[in-house]
Amino acid sequence: QKEEWAKLKNEPSKTKDGHHVELVANIGTPDDLEGVESNGGEGVGLYRTEFLYMGRSELPSEEEQYEAYSRVVKAMGDRPVVIRTLDIGGDKELSYLDLPEEMNPFLGFRAIRLCLEMQDMFRTQLRALLRAGAHGNLKVMFPMIATLQEFREAKKVLEEEKEKLVSEGTPVSDNLEVGIMVEIPSTAVMAPQFAKEVDFFSIGTNDLIQYTMAADRMNERVSYLYQPYSPAILNLVKMVIDASHKEGKWTGMCGEMAGDPIAVPLLVGLGLDEFSMSATSILPARTQLTGFTKEEAERAAEEALTLSTDEEVKALVEKQFTLS
Ligand code: PEP
Ligand code: MG
Repeated sequence: QKEEWAKLKNEPSKTKDGHHVELVANIGTPDDLEGVESNGGEGVGLYRTEFLYMGRSELPSEEEQYEAYSRVVKAMGDRPVVIRTLDIGGDKELSYLDLPEEMNPFLGFRAIRLCLEMQDMFRTQLRALLRAGAHGNLKVMFPMIATLQEFREAKKVLEEEKEKLVSEGTPVSDNLEVGIMVEIPSTAVMAPQFAKEVDFFSIGTNDLIQYTMAADRMNERVSYLYQPYSPAILNLVKMVIDASHKEGKWTGMCGEMAGDPIAVPLLVGLGLDEFSMSATSILPARTQLTGFTKEEAERAAEEALTLSTDEEVKALVEKQFTLS
């Protein structure tokens, strides 16, 4: 099986009838690039920058961040690199920020909420990103966006830093795409409005599932509720994809679901443009794609949306598709 996968390493990702989707990787540090290359990744769909901030005693400098981001962007050349701004809080703590303990950290002061308040820290990261963008195909993505006001505010801060850099004569990315993660149900519901203002969506199902089902992603006692194949989740995913396409924008997915063999045919059928996953899932997914047509996937997705339980959805896919 591994040999069959390896044959597709330098091939584009296509269904049996030639419909192309992008299979890209989730990374945590520039060292993960080796795995992206050896597994034939078409780019990076999620660079989780928080690891640069963790396991140390102070914030990383602009220079240090610039080094890390540009290393990734340069290595990928023309291939896209989606870098997510700091997503701290929830399960990820930074001791040196000295934040008070919260009763519900996953519903608390985290990610973009924290960045919009601690703006010095945010601006430093944005400057590093803007500068790194001059070396390749970088896209910026904001995590945990719940409202349009948050997106507008974050984008304004980005524009301000860009203007400052330009007036200093520092090279910056000239056509930077700015997108958001869709991982909060309100944002999925508001996708038609968001789609007019963002350049792209990336659906973060790890959190979207936990917030939709009100089931902690780390709590085994409620893991039976944490179901990617739930028709509720599929319907939210559809809303986001449809809204983006209506405005000529694209939608990716960077949660674990994007590389799940049960989910892949359904996501192709729903029209997902970009699948971002662990590097080791890329070749199996590329192989799986060659086994069905876009139309077969569309028919299955349409039926799945009307089913009543995640078990029915799973059974439908298992009956109709080869799972690699
Ligand atoms: C997600 O929520 O799906 C996601 C990709 O982000 P993280 O797992 O880092 O929260
Ligand atoms: Mg998340």
